[in-house]
Amino acid sequence: MLSRKALQITPSPTLSIDAKAKQLKNEGKDVIGFGAGEPDFDTPVHIKEAAINAINQGFTKYTPASGIPELKEAVCARFLRDNGLTYQPQQIVVSNGAKHSLDNVFSALLNQGDEVILPAPYWVSYPELVKLNEGIPVVIETQKEHNYKLKGTQLEKALSPRTKALVLNSPSNPTGQLYSREELEEIASVAIKNNIFIVSDEVYEKLIYGRSEHISIASLGEEIKKLTIIVNGASKTYAMTGWRIGYTASELNIATAMADIQSHNASNPNSIAQKAAYTALTGPQDCVQEMRLTFEKRRDYMLEYISHMPYLTCIEPQGAFYLFVNIGKTFSRKFRNIHIENGDHFAELLLDHYRVALVPGRGFGAPEYARLSYATSMDNIQAGLERLNSFLKELD
Ligand SMILES: *Cc1c(COP(=O)(O)O)cnc(C)c1O
Repeated sequence: MLSRKALQITPSPTLSIDAKAKQLKNEGKDVIGFGAGEPDFDTPVHIKEAAINAINQGFTKYTPASGIPELKEAVCARFLRDNGLTYQPQQIVVSNGAKHSLDNVFSALLNQGDEVILPAPYWVSYPELVKLNEGIPVVIETQKEHNYKLKGTQLEKALSPRTKALVLNSPSNPTGQLYSREELEEIASVAIKNNIFIVSDEVYEKLIYGRSEHISIASLGEEIKKLTIIVNGASKTYAMTGWRIGYTASELNIATAMADIQSHNASNPNSIAQKAAYTALTGPQDCVQEMRLTFEKRRDYMLEYISHMPYLTCIEPQGAFYLFVNIGKTFSRKFRNIHIENGDHFAELLLDHYRVALVPGRGFGAPEYARLSYATSMDNIQAGLERLNSFLKELD
């Protein structure tokens, strides 16, 4: 018999819709995927070369559990430059992707039954990672009027004696929304008053559009910095999803606990990828700017197109690479005499009849929505939106 933990886990819905679309593609079917959760660009050449050099120089052995010193120093330098935050290298833990970092955080913080507050819509893996570490996810529904962002008053209401932490994700996957300084201050003051940790997932920090500015909640003052564990990584910024490098910055005792946990369950992050990440963080950054501008053009195109489609509504994302679209108005309408029951059904009909893949919102705690990624070519975006539009026009 499997463990209760194993029995209650649901596989990542973003990965599974992607898998279905890829499978159809392999069968020779012309599928357009809006499901991607990763940049469609190749990893920049100078980063790849750093990895090739690492291999050729025999940098292929175990490293210190929490990462090589030069990479941890580079991470500290970036926190200082990008966020005005001072950390010592011992406060940094490099892991096998930000997902692994999050798992380490929950493993280091949670006792059985501890509550972790998750503002919905949330990234699909948060509730599962909390549960795998014996915690209880407490979901707070955010409001469209607040651009799907958590208010301090909402946080206050959700607190209980068992509340241990809040997960913040700005810019957000799936909504693309970014917290302003004032919004973060409101949340920070509640967190400080009630002594709860903030797990701040900032992996989309560098993918921000228009005039918006990313602010790390840890930068608002010493008190909130002590309570914050920042999670970041190379995947989204440098198109390095397959390399698996993420990292955290936190108080020393938390970092030490995570490093010790990691020394047993992973030994260390991949040695070659660490060298590549070092080059990514310290090398030229124009590749990031190029990718960001390409994402921005696609975002603008999609927003404009979708604003003319029937039934759908969408607020403007300021970051990441997703549009989070309300599809609720299509529910109970009919496609070729079939009642659309819910978001999953919508996604299934669209994939089966128009060969367009998107991710239904249920896994994000937002069943009336669907996530469309613009980490795909402009040609795909144009063709995919045309098909989506034709699908919607068939509804009655
Ligand atoms: C992609 C993603 C991650 C995980 O990134 P990896 O470093 O590839 O593990 C974490 N949080 C959010 C919100 C993401 O979208």
